[in-house]
This record gives sequence, C-alpha cells and structure tokens, in this order.
Amino acid sequence: MHPENTLRRRLLLAGAAGLAAATAVPGTAHARDAEAVEPDIDSTGTWDARPPQGTIGVLQYRPSRIVIHHTVSANTSDFSRAQAHAHAHWVQDLHLDKNNWVDTGYHFLVSRGGWITEGRHGSLQALVGGRNFVLGSHTSGQNSQAIGIACEGAYHAGAVPPGAQWDVLVTLCAYVCARYGIPSAQLYGHKDYGGTLCPGVYHDMLPRLREEVATARAA
Ligand SMILES: [Zn+2]
Repeated sequence: MHPENTLRRRLLLAGAAGLAAATAVPGTAHARDAEAVEPDIDSTGTWDARPPQGTIGVLQYRPSRIVIHHTVSANTSDFSRAQAHAHAHWVQDLHLDKNNWVDTGYHFLVSRGGWITEGRHGSLQALVGGRNFVLGSHTSGQNSQAIGIACEGAYHAGAVPPGAQWDVLVTLCAYVCARYGIPSAQLYGHKDYGGTLCPGVYHDMLPRLREEVATARAA
C-alpha cells in the first residue's frame, strides 16, 4: 500500500475525530474542494473484477440520494483488504451468474474491515467527476435516482456492524454527498422502498448516519 494511503486510512479509522485532521495532511489538500475527505476506493481493476456482461448505462445527471444495503454475506471477522476483494468477487459472481445482471448491482461496497471497493464498473470515475453516474441495479424504482452502497455482512438478525465499517461508511457517504451535491438528509435504506429486511440494523442507524455525514461535511 502507498504510504499516503496508509496514513489516510489510519485517519479514516480514527473516525469523525480524524476527519478534521485529515484535511491538514499533505496530499489530501484536495479534500477541501470536495468539502469531504476523499476515501481510498479500490477500483474494479484493483480487485480484478470480471468484465461486465453487456453495456452499462450512464445517466447524464447527478443522483439525488443514497440507498444503503447489506449483502447478507457471512459476518466475517476477517477485516483484511484481501477479504474485501473476495467479498467484491462474491457479490459480482452472484449478480452476474445468478441474477444474470450486466455487472454488480451496487455502486460501492464497504467491507466489515472498512475497505471500500467499487461495485459496478464506471462508478468510481463517475463519482470523481461528480456530474453523472452509472445505472445500478439495487433498489426497485430508485436505480435512476440513487447511488447504492452495500455493507458486507448480514444485519437483519441483530448483528452489530463493526466500528471500522461504520466509520468508513460515514466517510464514503460524506464524499458521495459532496461530489454530487446530495443533502445528508437524502440517505435512505433499501427497506424504505420495498418489502425487504435490507439493510437490517443499518436502517435503524440512518438518523445517526445522516447526522455524522452532516458533521463530516462541516469538518
Ligand atoms: Zn438491499
């Protein structure tokens, strides 16, 4: 890992307290422009994703909200970057081979160890540009409006999300909100749009998520 990434990651893991400090670190000065810390996101190339099975639609406007999901994978205690990549593969294989979708349905995934991976190809480049986004497949009726972020693990039966995952989810949401001009009030859970238990405990935590994202953006 690049030393700068190591530093930035450490600051991310420090949570909200680390966010203000992160903007003063050399190499993260650009964070000021975005009004949020830019988190490390492992692109589809970095985790060696399979190519899409067809053409991914690009929507030539900005998304207006974020929808949070969980992937109902095992609640692993492996917090490594390698596990985050393995999880990204597991989700992509499921969506390509079982659902027969064009690619991973989510735009981004956050592992239990706090590593972010790009889901659907093109999501990261679009996010950095901040003007358009790729058509995902994660929430019925919301795919042309929302960025889908999925948390590794299963939280519908009372499991508590790891602190590292929470902290990085806050940072990622703050960055997505900043890049796309999405108000922190526009953070939702899958359950808000249909009959599903997704994202479990994370749904109960949405008020806190909106609050912490607003704080992160003001830092
Ligand atoms: Zn969901």
